[in-house]
Amino acid sequence: MKHANISIFVPHVGCPNQCSFCNQKSISGQLVPVTPQEVADICRQAADRLQDRRGKTEIAFFGGSFTAIGQEQMVSLLQAAAPFVGENGFHGIRVSTRPDAVDEQRLELLKQYGVTAIELGVQSMDNCVLQLNRRGHTAEDVRNAVKLIRRYPFELGLQMMPGLYGDKAWGAVATAAELAALKPDTVRIYPTVVIRGTYLETLYQKGLYRPLALSEAVNLCADLLRYFEEQDIRVIRLGLHASKTLEDDYLAGPYHPAFRQLCESALILKEIICKLEELMLPKGEITIVTSPKNISNVAGHKQSGITALKAMGYTVKITGSDRLTGRQFIIKGK
Ligand code: SF4
Repeated sequence: MKHANISIFVPHVGCPNQCSFCNQKSISGQLVPVTPQEVADICRQAADRLQDRRGKTEIAFFGGSFTAIGQEQMVSLLQAAAPFVGENGFHGIRVSTRPDAVDEQRLELLKQYGVTAIELGVQSMDNCVLQLNRRGHTAEDVRNAVKLIRRYPFELGLQMMPGLYGDKAWGAVATAAELAALKPDTVRIYPTVVIRGTYLETLYQKGLYRPLALSEAVNLCADLLRYFEEQDIRVIRLGLHASKTLEDDYLAGPYHPAFRQLCESALILKEIICKLEELMLPKGEITIVTSPKNISNVAGHKQSGITALKAMGYTVKITGSDRLTGRQFIIKGK
């Protein structure tokens, strides 16, 4: 059964500064902070709706910096969610926060109220890039926060943003290597986009910042996806969540509502082309057998995979087989 989140957004609450790219209203689609009563109502409705899927579901406080919220407000939100966790309830509570808002006292509180996973917004491990993007923390803060969190039984997630202002071509690769060395359980990759009302918008309008093109971001993130998977680290998100507010405030950069599928398809297409070269199959009709779940990735968004292979001289038929899993595939010639 698939893991699910009940996402509850706490936009900008607790943020000590304003990062260059951030307009939480657009990113989370929420304008005002959530109240404990609303948290309880959301959890109750989700519990009724999800029934036997509750054990696979987490209550997730996203947006803002959860552990930087004043203690009283943070505890009131946790107290509202905690009764819905445990036997016959949800699996746990997931929170996202800043690396410099983590200490023992706060981690003890999270443990006490049933938090099971913490995600840190790292974004980059290059101090210069962090500074240019007004993050207000350093790479050392990330390492220290990870060390502390690892003393507790929390699942650890790290989030990164390729293509930030001042990032170099190899910046995301270097950050990914540093994150992998910290051995997180999960990673989220959000390629940087320009949203109205942010410092990045000002830089972009002045011609001082150029975001990654969509194709650049897809190729880079496809490689990062493979890299993390090779290190046994789950990539649980690629690209920003699609929402009407985000689409209204989006200005430039590699945003696409199906960004993960674009990356999965790019990755599988590279592997198929390698295999074709290895097999030295003559041009013409081929059949690609893959796991049922992977058929749409092989075909590609709007059939882009099929079109790319056609341009190489291959007419492709795709079929599913339950004997294959994940991205596994077999190519058969005519
Ligand atoms: S810490 Fe997070 S929520 Fe706060 S401004 Fe930065 S990105 Fe936005």
